[in-house]
Amino acid sequence: MEAFTAGLISLDDALSTMLDRVTPVAETETVPLTAATGRITAAAVISPVDVPPFANSAMDGYAVRLADLATGNPLPVAGKAFAGTPFSGEWPVGSCIRIMTGAPVPAGAEAVVMQEETEQAGEAVKFLATVNAGQNIRLAGEDIAQGASVLSAGIRLGTAELPLLASLGVPKVAVKRRLRVAVFSTGDELQPVGEPLAAGQIYDTNRFAVRLMLEKLGCEVIDLGIIRDNQAALRAAFIEADSRADVVISSGGVSVGEADYTKAMLEELGKIGFWKLAIKPGKPFAFGRLQNSWFCGLPGNPVSAVLTFYQLVQPLLAKLSGLTAAALPPRQRVKSASSLKKTPGRLDFQRGKLSRNALGELEVSSTGPQGSHVFSSFSQANCFIVLERDRGNVQAGEWVEVEPFNSLLEG
Ligand code: AMP
Ligand code: MG
Repeated sequence: MEAFTAGLISLDDALSTMLDRVTPVAETETVPLTAATGRITAAAVISPVDVPPFANSAMDGYAVRLADLATGNPLPVAGKAFAGTPFSGEWPVGSCIRIMTGAPVPAGAEAVVMQEETEQAGEAVKFLATVNAGQNIRLAGEDIAQGASVLSAGIRLGTAELPLLASLGVPKVAVKRRLRVAVFSTGDELQPVGEPLAAGQIYDTNRFAVRLMLEKLGCEVIDLGIIRDNQAALRAAFIEADSRADVVISSGGVSVGEADYTKAMLEELGKIGFWKLAIKPGKPFAFGRLQNSWFCGLPGNPVSAVLTFYQLVQPLLAKLSGLTAAALPPRQRVKSASSLKKTPGRLDFQRGKLSRNALGELEVSSTGPQGSHVFSSFSQANCFIVLERDRGNVQAGEWVEVEPFNSLLEG
């Protein structure tokens, strides 16, 4: 890795630098389905069975053999087949079997005629419509054949996937081990929530935010608390974090103030990949390598910390955790209902509210002041307004690009 990258680097270059260097965790474990929510498949899951497991009826109606229908005469009912209770017994020539949805189709049946296409004729059943071979019969393995791959490796298991595995009778699934991520905040001014504030102190927002996002991403969090702005304390935190985690995330101390030691510590104990991005907010973001782990130094301002986590750390963790390359986050062009302040030079992620106007068109409005300390802008927003690096002020009515928040910021 280059020891140092001077100047501001673009978000895309930063991302590709990070993603090109890291490889997914190799270790896997097998967990029961009930404990697999949010975990990532370590291998493709192969179906051990046919789905459906046997040919069954798609309708309530009558199972028939086509030859028995040739005369056009009504057929007597020789028995019944229910879901869970198949028809067993002799099926005399010239008769039909009453059958319910999901019931196994009796041996020899060539079609199921839906009830609505029949008529009672005394004890017998009259068939009113043309009957085609195979109609209303769901064949064994039609949905999923035994041996077919139902999920590929590198997928996050959730509501769409786990019930599918349950339907196949798969009780356990091989997943990647969870990522271990250490987090600490730096700053003499920080107090944990719940403690009283002395003069000049503020609450530690970033560790709280980062923990929440890590938990949502299914990581194992190692919380090292608040580290004061002195080199010895910071060195000890770096060393402990590196010995326990795959990824170390700090916040604060990455700018050029007199108490900003994070970058120096990364240089002392590891290697810097880059540390200044051409984005706003979030310019002072550091990425590098420690002995055992990857290091991400988030900016101190809470909006910048969350934004850089979202835009940079989230994809990094996705790759490390074994997720197969995710599609780029969807962006779309909409009209801005607000005028927006913008200085050319950095890619800007303003917080916006995407909604439908009276004409039914999507439009975005600003959440108001965009300072990197205005954390409330996130709670009012549902998207980023992504303004190109070289763009200046935006007038109301101009087209802008928006990126709707994913579940890390929504809900
Ligand atoms: P720094 O990069 O350490 O100079 O911090 C930049 C700004 O962010 C300062 O105003 C800090 O007080 C503030 N800040 C740093 N860390 C946190 C944190 N964990 N929670 C809230 N604000 C913070
Ligand atoms: Mg600080």
